[in-house]
Amino acid sequence: MYDVLVVGSANADLTVRVDRRPGAGETVLGTDLVESAGGKGANQAAAAARIGGRTALLARVGGDAYGELLLGAQRAAGTDVTPVIVDETARTGTAMIIVDPDGDNSIVVSPGANAALTPQDVAAAKDTIAASAVVSLQLEIPMESVRAAAAAAEQAGSRVVLNPSPAPTAALAPELLSVADPLVVNEHEARQLSGLTDGTPAQWAQALRDRGARSVVVTLGGDGALVLDASGAENVPGVRVKAVDTTGAGDAFTGALATRLARGDTLPGAARFAVRVGAAAVTKPGAQPSYPTRAELEVLAP
Ligand code: ATP
Repeated sequence: MYDVLVVGSANADLTVRVDRRPGAGETVLGTDLVESAGGKGANQAAAAARIGGRTALLARVGGDAYGELLLGAQRAAGTDVTPVIVDETARTGTAMIIVDPDGDNSIVVSPGANAALTPQDVAAAKDTIAASAVVSLQLEIPMESVRAAAAAAEQAGSRVVLNPSPAPTAALAPELLSVADPLVVNEHEARQLSGLTDGTPAQWAQALRDRGARSVVVTLGGDGALVLDASGAENVPGVRVKAVDTTGAGDAFTGALATRLARGDTLPGAARFAVRVGAAAVTKPGAQPSYPTRAELEVLAP
């Protein structure tokens, strides 16, 4: 019934652009505040839905204006929000984002309602999990809920795409790593989780497979991605674009990857498509507002 079920976070992104990012104890002036829909889970769902994936989201938002903003954005993208829980006792999660002239960002997240997404919520969504070809997970909700979703997906025969972001301070639980197919990491996460202080993306990916991941994708910003599965490693080149704002590019990539895997594409094939979606996402400001539809993607990166 669904290509992709995302179990994860939903945040309101509060973004200000600055000439340069402030150092400790420093104040700088920025542009007017822009409020938009974000959160790693919601971003990945929006990315999947906008490029045509049949998508659902299991998340918690507060019963406030930001919660309404996030639900509206998901509906506009085409996501089924039936599983989303509106929590009247919590604030919607927020992310405070500053973006510099190079398009690079610094982010502080206040989890709010995301912290209340429980393993019981996951258990209640058992049928939706079983009805989804791919279950896509990140780490902006409680770890026990991520583990519950991974276990339920594994039991139901759904493929797990795991994006361990924000990078955890401790090693990933072996039973979580061993269902990741793929584990999707950026360079920072790859280095940290592989335990290798130097080396190449191929070496980090191999180390993560040795630790149990079924397959690994390392995203490389403008350089594309490195894919490693049972048939070997493959470099997927980046698409050259003018980067305006990289916020949510990794989520655009992962949502697109999950959709293509659900439709039966190979991992390298899905990554080639996802690299184009990620590139399109950096050409516009914001996370979800920057995600391309299928038609926009053909124009930007045929
Ligand atoms: P973010 O945290 O900004 O969302 P990330 O660190 O998780 O991103 P990246 O590896 O930076 O992930 O980028 C993910 C994907 O987005 C890349 O694989 C690529 O497809 C696209 N991308 C990111 N930056 C650029 C860029 N400057 N030019 C072209 N494509 C880009």
